[in-house]
Amino acid sequence: MTMNIQPRFQDNFLAPNLSDPRLASKRSYRMLVDGKSVDAQSGETISRESPGHRGKVVGEWPAASSQDVSRAIGVARRAFDEGPWARMSGAERSTILHRVAAGILQHQEELGLIECLETGKPLTQATGEIGYCADLWTYAAGMARGLEGDSHNAIGDNRLGLVLREPAGVVGIITPWNFPFIIVSERVPWALGAGCTVVVKPSEFTSGTTIRLADIALEAGVPPGVFNVVTGTGPAAGQLLAEDPRVDVLAFTGSVRVGTHLAALAAPTVKRVGLELGGKGPQVVFADADLEAAADGIAYGVYHNAGQCCISGSRLIVHNAIRPALLERLLELSRRLPFGDPLGDSKFGAMVTDQHAEKVASYIAKGVSEGAELLLGGDRVAASKGNFIAPTVFDRVTPNMTIAQEEIFGPVLSTIGFDTPEEAVALANTTPYGLSASVWSRDLETAIQATRRIRAGRFWINSVIDGTPEMPIGGYKKSGVGRELGRYGFDEYSQFKGLHMTLGRPQPWFQH
Ligand code: NAD
Repeated sequence: MTMNIQPRFQDNFLAPNLSDPRLASKRSYRMLVDGKSVDAQSGETISRESPGHRGKVVGEWPAASSQDVSRAIGVARRAFDEGPWARMSGAERSTILHRVAAGILQHQEELGLIECLETGKPLTQATGEIGYCADLWTYAAGMARGLEGDSHNAIGDNRLGLVLREPAGVVGIITPWNFPFIIVSERVPWALGAGCTVVVKPSEFTSGTTIRLADIALEAGVPPGVFNVVTGTGPAAGQLLAEDPRVDVLAFTGSVRVGTHLAALAAPTVKRVGLELGGKGPQVVFADADLEAAADGIAYGVYHNAGQCCISGSRLIVHNAIRPALLERLLELSRRLPFGDPLGDSKFGAMVTDQHAEKVASYIAKGVSEGAELLLGGDRVAASKGNFIAPTVFDRVTPNMTIAQEEIFGPVLSTIGFDTPEEAVALANTTPYGLSASVWSRDLETAIQATRRIRAGRFWINSVIDGTPEMPIGGYKKSGVGRELGRYGFDEYSQFKGLHMTLGRPQPWFQH
């Protein structure tokens, strides 16, 4: 790929300011195990450079080994089996989780800046995400005192059945780098609300805010040993969470490659495994759609977080009658979109690592070599200052091309035309993924019929990348198993015990 800045991006690319004072100091973190801040036994650490500010190290955390993780699992096991958390009333847990939400809001600016510098996302976006996370904790806190089982009063006059909801036990949680604080906040409050204890392994690239969250939770009254964080690379610090029989549930969020590997490693212990994996979200635009709104939504769907979103709308499936008009609006918008310096006024920032930027660039090259038409972008911009990729739009993509099938995880849109609703649905369903989908139409029946036929766990009509704590998330097909958020999320972290009570004398099995 060429590395030059194309003239059309000179106005809307915001070059990083490497002398911004917010980059001046590196933050050092320690893991939280049993309520104490600890280093890795080896003393080794991992440093993190801001992906949007080349050469600026912004964080450092321990590089745990499996011995460190084994200790954390033991602590979480003991806290679950012997500690107060699993036995507390829902009301008591709820009160503490509400205090965590308040603590997050107190530290919103600090957490937003850490998240921005470690991930490369714009500061305003990162700070907004922290606010959303406080709401996730608030929702789970509210639900934590209303988690009920069930009763069966019609199973015979001499019987009463109760379904007891119990906490599932020790939960291992492994998270990715694209939304570190959101994803940990979509899992931990649900697990804690259900009465579980957790060991969290964040991405080795973005561990700062997860460690700070565990500190805040401890200050808020979550007992020591209930919320533990270990940091380090996947194989060294994450794998044992799948293999160890002392862990009851593994909640993994990340790539299909690692998720399936961990599910196989977890199988001999027969633990419950929740997987939230990749996506290749279709945005299906029918001929009657509001084109202004659709163009804006498509831009948001593919460029948000520089396209590093599991629920990106990275495939535009558009009716051929409106394809030129929609693309024209989208290109016009894409040319004006400010992107670049995460600390500046950008709509999207950097790719998470050099290696990932290379991978996205190689997908773009593949799109060109397989015959798709590159309408805009395709460049790595100012690579000497950070990992930036310009907004990129492909047209005339066919369903079997690599850029139509595989998750690119960059600001790259693949456009495919259709003529009939049946064709649109078939195209939407052609990838192995089923995480999210959007339909754009003014006709409710068209939109609902498409929604019913497209296989995806998160769906939007006339919007994209929307969500609230009440609504479930999760994948069909290779995008995963299990559901997080809403009342469904608590079931992932609960066991259900069927209790049969006999009333009166039981019927003898053997008559003397
Ligand atoms: P990844 O699979 O490379 O890493 C995810 C996590 O797994 C990291 O913490 C990593 O250290 C750990 N890991 C890696 N190898 C491991 C191993 N052998 N044992 C244990 N842990 C290991 O994914 P990523 O690059 O961090 O994130 C991007 C991927 O995550 C994309 O595919 C994206 O679609 C997916 N994702 C999915 C969701 C969702 O909700 N479905 C949300 C965000 C991201």
